[in-house]
Amino acid sequence: MTALHHEGVAALGRALASRQVSSVEVVSHLLGRIEAHRALGTFLHLDAGRALEVARSIDERRARGESLAPLAGVPIAHKDIFVTKGAPSTAGSKMLAGYESPFDATVVSRLAQAGCVSLGKLNCDEFAMGSSNENSAFGPVRNPWDTGRVPGGSSGGSAAAVAARLLPAATGTDTGGSIRQPASFSGITGIKPTYGVCSRWGMVAFASSLDQAGPLARSAEDCALLLSAMSGFDERDATSAQRPPQDFDAQMRARRTGASASKPLAGLRIGLPREFFPAALAADVGATVRAALAAFEGLGATLVDVSLPRTELSIPVYYIIAPAEASSNLGRFDGVRYGHRAAKYVDLLDMYKKSRAEGFGPEVKRRIMIGTYVLSHGYYDAYYLQAQKLRRMIADDFRQCFTQCDVIAGPVAPTVAWKLGAQDDDPVAAYLADIFTLPASLAGLPGMSVPAGFGEGGMPVGLQLIGNYFAEGELLRAAHAFQQATDFHARVPEGFQ
Ligand code: GLN
Repeated sequence: MTALHHEGVAALGRALASRQVSSVEVVSHLLGRIEAHRALGTFLHLDAGRALEVARSIDERRARGESLAPLAGVPIAHKDIFVTKGAPSTAGSKMLAGYESPFDATVVSRLAQAGCVSLGKLNCDEFAMGSSNENSAFGPVRNPWDTGRVPGGSSGGSAAAVAARLLPAATGTDTGGSIRQPASFSGITGIKPTYGVCSRWGMVAFASSLDQAGPLARSAEDCALLLSAMSGFDERDATSAQRPPQDFDAQMRARRTGASASKPLAGLRIGLPREFFPAALAADVGATVRAALAAFEGLGATLVDVSLPRTELSIPVYYIIAPAEASSNLGRFDGVRYGHRAAKYVDLLDMYKKSRAEGFGPEVKRRIMIGTYVLSHGYYDAYYLQAQKLRRMIADDFRQCFTQCDVIAGPVAPTVAWKLGAQDDDPVAAYLADIFTLPASLAGLPGMSVPAGFGEGGMPVGLQLIGNYFAEGELLRAAHAFQQATDFHARVPEGFQ
């Protein structure tokens, strides 16, 4: 075995099962690494004591000869948007500083049942609003590939921790790109499943019709194992998909008809929407993505031209619908039941106002105001209703595309990770950079980011794969075949060997 922190989920699972290594050893090793790399800002809460306790009990059960699940003893950590019992849950907001949930999110409890050992909670943009992790009330996260740059967001702590080899994998959420874009910026693999595959129970709500959970890890194989454990029907989430449990690892390994060892993707039609390759796309990103697509061709896939004509419109549509839902979801933070309450106020209304003014950061306030505006009488028809109609048309465009291809590919983001502070004065610049991840989110389709190479400044570039509804297996299979033939996903940022 190589150094423990370089092992992924699948390899660690095997080493633990054969008792080559104990969970306590793995957890202790990673806790040391996390301490040594505190300056990255990845963890908001480290749960060392409890993690070691859980690891020890798994080791004991294994020593007694109990047969355990394949992930038993594997360390992970959760984006701090998932609520956890017995540990703080902040959603990256001052509003929830010091808050402890009385229950675990479904994703958290499912992974615990599968034997994953949670080491704590990871930094993220406040209420998952952002693309750089700079909107966290608890400070930014640094990109291990260049600590002067952002790791992406909103799941920035998850992505940076996995990229820096502090963890083999972490959970994230994706409302408009928050798993795929940080995975791309940080050189790791992430998948946002079809809306409804993972339960939203216990995920602090941002935009409920878009929010989905998923794993960030180093390979498609590791993502498949985690997604199998964290997904599944949950009666506590009314939008949860009613399907039997899925084995995504088996789906990933299922051979395509006509495939061979050298052409594992024979017959796979990859659609390239022309709108995903605009003139404004950064040259380094365009070249890296095209080179990766050539590798897919080498593996037997065929590339076909398709069109998603409303790609640009997905930005205004998303930035109407997501804030509208957020303004409603965040109404619950009123200083009465839980969350921040102002110390001084004159009456109830003043208490609401001061608590919210003090508890929310500037980006969250901006979205609450936009959302309240587009839902208000007189503007609802002009903005919110129009956006809903266009959302439907965006989904129809995908339906049309999938008559011509099996998966869709393109860049995850128009550039590599930017420098910390680069977009401080221009929130709209960050919104525009979401252009390639928003369409799949609005349609509810699964999307994945796969390390495809490196661009400007040696920064990672991710290839996005978008699948039809519930075609996670197809995405994982394509990504896995690519990763068997390339080593971009296995590269380690300098200083984190
Ligand atoms: N960057 C997008 C936003 O700020 C997406 C965030 C997300 O997916 N949570 O809304």
